[in-house]
Amino acid sequence: MKRSVEKVFPRHDSPHMVGDGFRVYNLIPGVGVTQERISPFLMLDFNPEIDFGPSKHIRGVGAHPHKGFETVTIAYKGSVAHHDSTGKSGIINSGDVQWMTAGAGILHKEYHEKEFSKKGGPFEMVQLWVNLPAKDKSTPAHYQAIAAGQMGKVMLPDHSGIVNVIAGKFQHTEGPAQTYTSVNLFDIKLEKEGETSFNIPVSHNAALLVVNGNIEVNGEQAKEHHFVLLKNDGEEITIKATDKAVVLFMSGEPINEPIASYGPFVMNTQEEIMEAVKDFQKGKYGVLD
Ligand code: MN
Repeated sequence: MKRSVEKVFPRHDSPHMVGDGFRVYNLIPGVGVTQERISPFLMLDFNPEIDFGPSKHIRGVGAHPHKGFETVTIAYKGSVAHHDSTGKSGIINSGDVQWMTAGAGILHKEYHEKEFSKKGGPFEMVQLWVNLPAKDKSTPAHYQAIAAGQMGKVMLPDHSGIVNVIAGKFQHTEGPAQTYTSVNLFDIKLEKEGETSFNIPVSHNAALLVVNGNIEVNGEQAKEHHFVLLKNDGEEITIKATDKAVVLFMSGEPINEPIASYGPFVMNTQEEIMEAVKDFQKGKYGVLD
């Protein structure tokens, strides 16, 4: 049974800067999708391709906290360097994904990678926030650095394209990301007229972002930068590219727990939020220059 399309959301307003390195459109919840319909996803910022010129100044966002959820950074084009209060650092290159579990609390900073900054070039990124269930919100902070070559790879028949399975299961192929609740995250690249079909449990909330190109999803048209929410009325999803397309598909078991959030802190109650802010002010998330 096919899932119907609940709504195709156009890209809405103007972009905003995150620090001076990310020029993003906020799609979750910015387009108007409700928390209930998109759970376990909390936020999606999309930096469509933009050419950053060469710069001696390294653009990005300085030390800031996160607590109670996960940040997933998907680098389509360009490179991002990150440092965090656990003492770790790394580079997210084009095709890589960083899956960071903020859990009990972390400070980190996210900057254009030094060499990329110097040379400049096309930059295209997504950051997706995934909620954690109450029982896992205090898990120690850590991250999974998932390189492009580690993704589950599915070559679609008839030269239709390729699917990078970041998390969950696409047809019979699993992705490398370890998740706390059932989540699928697929980077789907389709050639013009390419097509693919897959099943997602009916209980999952499901949506997609058209990163590039134009598609039809279960018979409805979605254009470049549109965000599509699917109904929970079936399992089967068919995506057809009317132009060469890149699609970010996400689905997950909703987390039916109360949400209290304040900026980069996402907990279950207001008391927990006040405690999180206090802990941050006291320096309990560690130190980062
Ligand atoms: Mn961050």
